[in-house]
Amino acid sequence: MIIVLRPEATPAVADEILARISSLGLKPLHMPGSERVVLGALGDERVLAQLHLESHPMVEEVKPILAPYKLVSREVHPHDTVVQIGHVPIGGQRFAVIAGPCAVESRAQMKNTAQIVKDAGAVGLRAGAFKPRTSPYAFQGLGMKGLEILRDVGAELSMPVVTEVLEAHDVDAVVQHAACLQIGARNMQNFALLKAVGQTRTPVILKRGMAARVEDLLLAAEYILAEGNDQVILCERGIRTFETCTRNTLDLNAVPYMKQKTHLPVVVDPSHGTGIRDLVIPMAKAAAACGADGILVEVHEDPKVAWSDGAQSLDPAGFRRFMKELAPVVRAVGREMP
Ligand code: PEP
Ligand code: MN
Repeated sequence: MIIVLRPEATPAVADEILARISSLGLKPLHMPGSERVVLGALGDERVLAQLHLESHPMVEEVKPILAPYKLVSREVHPHDTVVQIGHVPIGGQRFAVIAGPCAVESRAQMKNTAQIVKDAGAVGLRAGAFKPRTSPYAFQGLGMKGLEILRDVGAELSMPVVTEVLEAHDVDAVVQHAACLQIGARNMQNFALLKAVGQTRTPVILKRGMAARVEDLLLAAEYILAEGNDQVILCERGIRTFETCTRNTLDLNAVPYMKQKTHLPVVVDPSHGTGIRDLVIPMAKAAAACGADGILVEVHEDPKVAWSDGAQSLDPAGFRRFMKELAPVVRAVGREMP
């Protein structure tokens, strides 16, 4: 429920109403605006009726939050949230490119790839140390060793690092080594993991599940915000459809839809979204054109020998072309890019 106070309501009035909301076991929200203070109450709305706030002399309006997700919705938070990954803001004027290999394979591979993507203009470094592979016999990632490599390389090049956390019991270790956690498509509805990352204050890139509706993604994000972590970036990475010529179907409808319904930044992963290297640049341009705040893209120093996702990884020259071709599209929609 949203409770709009009258312009003349004092801070003491807001405090009194918030205390009454808490006393009913509901979660109180305080959202001061430039003209009016807006309060919120999350939880069982039938309970709220007991407070009879409509008849409070300092309450202008009491209205339900119509969306099933609350904290992520623009109804509750009208202005864009800018999530800070290390020194890199995501969701503001600047369009962000976060690039790197699918997986950490070795220190030399990570250093070389990080230098290549940094020189071409990437602002963040991605790579997986814990890999969620379809086959149990496929490379599962270097684990802790991979995290250490990532942390060192990120620090050397002063690039904030994004890496996937697969299990709740690894959250603390990953937080120690990375500027941003990634929840992968296969874990989008792992509610225990969502709650665990919600208890940190580390930013999270939450990827859309391959069979998840946009509303499911937004409700998954709500789990993280409900635990107190509002540093969430949503990622469209393609969904399973009847189409088989691409690995996934990149649902770009989701980008402007989510930008309208939520205040959270939205990034797009055209690598997993297509599975095909030659489609990565055109779909990244399309993502920028429809309002994405950034791109997550796989780059390998030599994709033909990559231990995972080589077919969708750009090579160094391909990544330089990616940056060159993306920049004019980003600028055409009024955003900035190095
Ligand atoms: C990845 O980013 O390497 C990855 C495993 O992504 P997704 O969870 O989207 O498949
Ligand atoms: Mn991958």
